[in-house]
Amino acid sequence: MAEKSFKYVIIGGGVSAGYAAREFVKQGVQPGELAIISKEAVAPYERPALSKAYLFPEGAARLPGFHVCVGSGGERLLPEWYAEKGISLLLNTEIVKADLASKTLTSAAGETFKYNILIIATGSTVLKLTDFGVQGADSKNIFYLREIDDADKLVEIIKAKKTGTAIVVGGGYIGLELSAVLKINNFDVKMVYPEPWCMPRLFTADIAAFYESYYAKKGVNIIKGTVAVGFTSNDDGEVKEVKLKDGRVLEADIVVVGVGARPLTTLFKGQVEEEKGGIKNSQISHGLFSLLQTDEFFKTSLPDVYAVGDVATFPMKMYGDIRRVEHVDHSRKSAEQAVKAIFASEQGKTIEAYDYLPYFYSRSFDLSWQFYGDNVGDAVIFGDHDPASAKPKFGSYWIKDGKVVGAFLEGGAPEENQAIAKVAKLQPAASSLDVLAKEGLEFASKI
Ligand SMILES: Cc1cc2nc3c(=O)[nH]c(=O)nc-3n(C[C@H](O)[C@H](O)[C@H](O)COP(=O)(O)OP(=O)(O)OC[C@H]3O[C@@H](n4cnc5c(N)ncnc54)[C@H](O)[C@@H]3O)c2cc1C
Repeated sequence: MAEKSFKYVIIGGGVSAGYAAREFVKQGVQPGELAIISKEAVAPYERPALSKAYLFPEGAARLPGFHVCVGSGGERLLPEWYAEKGISLLLNTEIVKADLASKTLTSAAGETFKYNILIIATGSTVLKLTDFGVQGADSKNIFYLREIDDADKLVEIIKAKKTGTAIVVGGGYIGLELSAVLKINNFDVKMVYPEPWCMPRLFTADIAAFYESYYAKKGVNIIKGTVAVGFTSNDDGEVKEVKLKDGRVLEADIVVVGVGARPLTTLFKGQVEEEKGGIKNSQISHGLFSLLQTDEFFKTSLPDVYAVGDVATFPMKMYGDIRRVEHVDHSRKSAEQAVKAIFASEQGKTIEAYDYLPYFYSRSFDLSWQFYGDNVGDAVIFGDHDPASAKPKFGSYWIKDGKVVGAFLEGGAPEENQAIAKVAKLQPAASSLDVLAKEGLEFASKI
């Protein structure tokens, strides 16, 4: 089969790839120089939409509406944009072998691709209960969500069942967002997770208490402190029951699992420096995966290979340590940084080191929160966190070594979100936890 050669190749066609493509064009990439190779069937899109507006019963988001870069208020890159710019967008093409020594990639169909510079943007894949040998986990109507094909399967089952009981396994982002959207679709929703409260990696007990009460008020039944250990199915192989470790058995018409993700790095195993990352999530408590180690320009241990988005660890300048960030804002910014660094190095120039302020967000029901910085040290809660309020607005600060290092806000206006971002960036001194709790947003507005 014919071999194709490109100056630059991106493996993966997700969020990072889309933002990288836009930056390549800004930097003056020439027609024919860049290829994006993606196993998905569609051009890069804003993945967070899949667990939110994509599943709405009315007014659902659909492509081409949420192609990158609309999620950050930028231009929407339609499939024809890539053609106009002379970028080869090779869809439905899975790379199954990457030989970084000979700079050759091989697809499942046997095509080979050569490159001068490679950007690895393969993202993550979901952890499946079948991977952990959970009995009956291969029954029909047990769903996961990562790519648009998965979201389409969910849309289909929601339409087919119309109503019924949905069991959501996992109490992280995906579990919370999917529970909300299934409830909006008229399902009777039960969430199951082993931790004492939802989103334990970010939320304090106080923050979680608000969301759990709000969800309960909306009719979502939360079952904490236990895990799904097995599933039974009917004669057609469709899931009917979820067996919990504490002995309870829940009826189910559909099951949606959100128990974490694993970065897709196996293609590169042993070829670049790697780091071990632990899996800490709601259903599976331990395990290890490999991450690709990069510098502040997202360059790996090989000079012509970069890694961005979910697969990379990088120096977090603000905190003086090495981190991985599995969120959309970083996938966009790391991609842009890598492309800028590639062009700078070709011109014998240097650019500023990546100086990232962690930023995560989520939306469900009428709620919307943002978080900036680091959730370490002591936390205080402020504002109206009564789930029965007509418009709850509250937040949290995290204080370490006398400085405010992290800030969370539910229901904030854009300028208020900007104010808490500034707090997390500048890390102002905090006189006392009590004062911070009392001042709340006023503290941020003075910074
Ligand atoms: C449903 C959902 C909702 C989310 N919501 C939020 C949110 O609200 N806020 C937030 O901050 N973050 C959210 N995230 C996380 C965010 O979307 C990811 O961190 C981000 O997409 C990572 O970008 P990436 O480019 O590294 O990987 P991805 O966007 O996952 O892209 C990876 C691409 O590589 C392709 N690929 C993988 N292997 C190969 C191969 N061998 N050959 C060819 N192609 C390959 C994949 O098919 C995919 O197209 C959400 C994630 C999901 C799944």
